[in-house]
Amino acid sequence: MANRIKFSKHDLDMIVQRLSLVDFVGKTVHLKRRGNDYWGCCPFHGEKTPSFHVREDKKYYHCFGCGAHGNIFEFAKFTRGGTFPEVVEYLADLAGIKLETVNFNPAQQKAYDDSIKALDLSAKLYQKRLNENPTAKNYLLERGLTEETIATFGLGFALDSWNDLKNSLTQQGISQNILIDNGLVVPSDKGGYDRFRNRIMFPIENYKNQVIAFGGRVIEKEEPKYLNSPETKLFNKSYNLFGLNKNQESIRKENQAFIVEGYMDVIGLYNSGLMTAVAPLGTAITEGQLLLLWKYQSSPIICLDGDTAGQTAAFRAAKRALGILQPGRTLRFMVMPDGEDPDSYVKKHGKEAFLQLAESTFSITECIWKNIVKGKDLKTADDRAVIEQEINELTSLIQNETIARQYKTALRENLWNYGRGIDKNQQIAMKNRTRLGTKSAKVHATQRTNHEENLLLALTLQYPEQILCFEEKLAEIIFTDTEHKILQKAILDFLDNTNLDNQEFDDYLRNVSLIELKTRVLKSCESILKGEQEDIEAQGVAKYWENLHKQLQTQQKSSKKTDQVLAQFLQMANTDK
Ligand SMILES: [Zn+2]
Repeated sequence: MANRIKFSKHDLDMIVQRLSLVDFVGKTVHLKRRGNDYWGCCPFHGEKTPSFHVREDKKYYHCFGCGAHGNIFEFAKFTRGGTFPEVVEYLADLAGIKLETVNFNPAQQKAYDDSIKALDLSAKLYQKRLNENPTAKNYLLERGLTEETIATFGLGFALDSWNDLKNSLTQQGISQNILIDNGLVVPSDKGGYDRFRNRIMFPIENYKNQVIAFGGRVIEKEEPKYLNSPETKLFNKSYNLFGLNKNQESIRKENQAFIVEGYMDVIGLYNSGLMTAVAPLGTAITEGQLLLLWKYQSSPIICLDGDTAGQTAAFRAAKRALGILQPGRTLRFMVMPDGEDPDSYVKKHGKEAFLQLAESTFSITECIWKNIVKGKDLKTADDRAVIEQEINELTSLIQNETIARQYKTALRENLWNYGRGIDKNQQIAMKNRTRLGTKSAKVHATQRTNHEENLLLALTLQYPEQILCFEEKLAEIIFTDTEHKILQKAILDFLDNTNLDNQEFDDYLRNVSLIELKTRVLKSCESILKGEQEDIEAQGVAKYWENLHKQLQTQQKSSKKTDQVLAQFLQMANTDK
């Protein structure tokens, strides 16, 4: 017994929370998503049809064939072998956790248990105080929250007192040190005082629904408006998200996730039936939080204020995401109307209106582009050089090579396209002096390319069987949209291995986490497809596709020439200096 290495519950919890069970098992077992679960052939007993499945939300795997069942530690022990401590050390390393307590002793175990108990008792005290205090309770009810929502999130109230919590918890046998260690009491000469006073209290919970910290919001106009627990052994701000434990099932089921700024936004959206929002804990979203959320949804939407602070926040989040982007895992952004936050908006206009707003989002590349061209004059070679430099610097942050290449191409093409736009306008201006009426056709040239590009990709996705013979032709097209490029590459990769079959293709996309992207692209091209439906039917899909391909090729060749002219022009401009 004396020699047995013990780990702290907290360290083990952190491993389970930070690592994705689906990703980890997926390294050994070929998993396919079906509904909310991932299925594959059981590695514990030989089988040809999958009866083994992994539940990310419940953190276990289970086999209906042989009854194999366990968590990430058991799976790692089975696949890697070794002793339990070796497995823990391996997984901790994978999760980027430094095991502080390899020789966890009974005193540490007691401190951990006492901490969990102290935080739980605090939450209960705050809830009791809320019900005894009509002003505080009315504050929440007047904001439209139902009793049910208040209870679900365990909202409470801290009295305007220096020692209400301290006295109550010490009477229940919790030591003052535990209260201080968990940020509930602030140490002072006189022994310490309650950190949270006269505030609405929001318990912050881990994935096991245990309270690990609190956020407190003032009722009256005091500062700071929000006060959070300090970081403690149990509470690491960078690896938790407010609301994730309550909303994780809906996030997975609805395949939708919103990242909002405040706790009240998460709760307000929940209150109106939208149970898919989470909030960072008083800071901008961190890499750890993104990795955590991606375990549940691959393309979360960050809700931003419409002001410049919102724009800056978006750029920061986009930059932070660059280093950890994976194919099929991304971020999108939506902007709230002026003066509104998600909570106020959904209260006024309801859930459907909010979802409608969420239909128009923009991507990371769009966000980066907007920010690097801000305040710059794209007509000058100097500014264009600065922008190109920034493109290189930003894309060098991307670890994944495929994505780095795609982003670089997309952003550089933006730069070129912009140059072409100016070039074109000048041509138009010249021509207009002699011949009116050609202007609109020229201006819409770029939009037309996008139209044809969208149509070509949508047809490919919609009727994969019919374009089987066009593999090489598809490879020739240079798509302008990053997401289109990603799908193009996926289709070509798929064709390398097998013949294109609609069902298999979908399974394949699901495996490389691109199925949502396909659905989204098809949805955005719905009206274009509909508009062309008659022609497509008249010509047949394959014939129509080929014609479209020819048009796109011609357009791309002519724009390539423009690029060369522009490049020469820029070179001349540079040597002038
Ligand atoms: Zn089995």
